[in-house]
Order: sequence, then structure tokens, then C-alpha cells
Amino acid sequence: SKEQGKSHYNFYDNRQDDAKEAQLSLKTNMNRALERGEFQLYYQPQVNLLNQKVMGMEALIRWHNKELGNVRPDIFIPLAERTGLIFKIDEWVLFEACRQLREWIDAGYQPVPIAVNVSGKQFRSQRIIETIDDALHKYRISSDLLVIEITEGALMHDEKSEQVLNELKRRGISIHLDDFGTGYSSLSYLKRYPIDTIKIDRSFIQEVNADERDAKITTAIIHLAQTLGLEVIAEGVEDAEQIRFLKQKNAVYAQGYYFEKPLPAPEMEHLYLVDE
Ligand code: C2E
Ligand code: CA
Ligand code: CA
Ligand code: CA
Repeated sequence: SKEQGKSHYNFYDNRQDDAKEAQLSLKTNMNRALERGEFQLYYQPQVNLLNQKVMGMEALIRWHNKELGNVRPDIFIPLAERTGLIFKIDEWVLFEACRQLREWIDAGYQPVPIAVNVSGKQFRSQRIIETIDDALHKYRISSDLLVIEITEGALMHDEKSEQVLNELKRRGISIHLDDFGTGYSSLSYLKRYPIDTIKIDRSFIQEVNADERDAKITTAIIHLAQTLGLEVIAEGVEDAEQIRFLKQKNAVYAQGYYFEKPLPAPEMEHLYLVDE
């Protein structure tokens, strides 16, 4: 059994090494991904339930690497936040979203606002405002076509967050509070910051018709938003029953596989944009 113990130990040890190696390969490849043009934005429609019209779309980053294949953003974004590469990635996303808007406008499409996810680290640096100004200016995009999505978890109660949010507001850029209900201080953020829209986290929507507590929480969030004069977008809507629930509670906007998975730009424009 001494043998067994040892081989077990070796097995565990190898796994540790493999994991370390995988992480290193991920990091090395990620550092080169920008210059190699391996990132791409996909777009997912945000739909008005009252008239089925697309009110906006969310830009979601995709990374395809020759060696690693497709790497999910919930794997590489947290890593990029730890290594600091997130600043360059978020910058690339902002410029790419504005470039895409300009391309659509020039092609004669009626543009809808694009919501861009910004990480917490990026958010508390003054650079975010400069980057946004530069991107809007470079592609001649009006500020009401850009929306910033920031998760509750990424915001903080500090002067910096408040300054940045107020600067965005001053420019007429809308702010979505993402993953609402999963962070620590949801309600105090609503009190302190100029939020326009709450995105109800997918974890509440998923079982909204099966779990009574999820149904009650979702209903309460919708009422809270209505009382405060905020918009609500339900995230991760996958079936007609969830739509029925949301409509019954007078929620207006929804996003999810029920309508569409995130799509590359050509498919998005083909399916959802209308000629001017
Ligand atoms: P998120 O901002 O909460 O984005 C929503 C996620 O839910 C996306 O995953 C989307 O593809 C997925 N989703 C949408 N509808 C449904 C549905 O009906 N069912 C299910 N099961 N999932 C649905 P994705 O694209 O894998 O992104 C994961 C997270 O990575 C995002 O969560 C966001 O936090 C982060 N992320 C994605 N793109 C960017 C980016 O460009 N910059 C930054 N900083 N973060 C990003
Ligand atoms: Ca988001
Ligand atoms: Ca979300
Ligand atoms: Ca999320």
C-alpha cells in the first residue's frame, strides 16, 4: 500500500504540473493574441418584448487560437485581469465595437446601440474615459450608440468608480449594471450611481418557472427597477415560458438563446439590422 500511496502522489503531482503548463501556454498565447488578430467580437441581440424589435446588442469577445482552439471568455478574461492584459483587451473591444458601428452606418444600416463589457480594473483607471473618447472620435460614433456594461462585482464604493460613471453619464453613454443580484452591494449602487439599466442575472431567470424563490426575486427586481425608473434586461432567456413570465411582470427587455446566440457581425447584420 506504500506503493499505492506513492503512485497516487505521483499522479496528483503530474496533474499539478499539467495544470501549470496549461496555464502558462494560455498566458503565452494570450499575450500574442492581439497582435495576431485572434480576437473577434460576436453580437447578441437585446429584444423589446412588446414589439419584438432589437433595442441593442451586446458585444462578446471570442478568442480562437491555433494551438488551444476556442477559449471561453470566462477562462481568459479573469486571467487577463490578473496579468494586466485586460487593459489592452478592453481597449481593443471598445475600438472594434466602434469600428463595426461605423462600418454598419456606412453600409446604410440603421445602427442600434452596442453594449460593451468593461472589467473592473479597467473601470477604475482614468484611461477608460480617454479610450472611449478616442474610439468614438476615431469612428465618428455618437455617444448614445455606446453602452457600458459593468458587473456589480467589478464596481466599488470609491471616488474613482463614481467619477468614471459620472463622466460616462455626462457624455450620454448608458450604463448597464450587469449580473444584478449576484454581488454584495446591489442596492447601494443603485442609490449612489447613475445606472440606467439593470441586467437580471441568468441564475435567477434559468428556473424562474420552476423555483418559487427565483420567481419572487425576479419579480422584486423588476418592481424595484420600475419604482426607480430604470430599465430591466433579463439575461439568459432560453424558452417561451420564461418570456411569458417576464411579460406578465411587465418586464420589457430580454436577451438570450431563445432569440439568438451571440453571432459574428455578418450574420448579425443580415438577420437583425434594417436598411435606413
Ligand atoms: P456576461 O457579460 O454576463 O455575458 C453573458 C454571457 O451569457 C455570455 O457568455 C453569453 O454568450 C451568455 N448567454 C447569453 N444568452 C444565454 C442563454 O440564453 N443561455 C446561456 N446559458 N448563456 C447565455 P460569454 O460570451 O461566454 O461571456 C462570458 C463572460 O465573459 C461575460 O459575461 C463577461 O463577463 C465576460 N466577457 C465577454 N466578453 C467580454 C469583453 O469583451 N470584455 C470583458 N471585459 N469581458 C467580457
Ligand atoms: Ca454583459
Ligand atoms: Ca451578465
Ligand atoms: Ca456573467
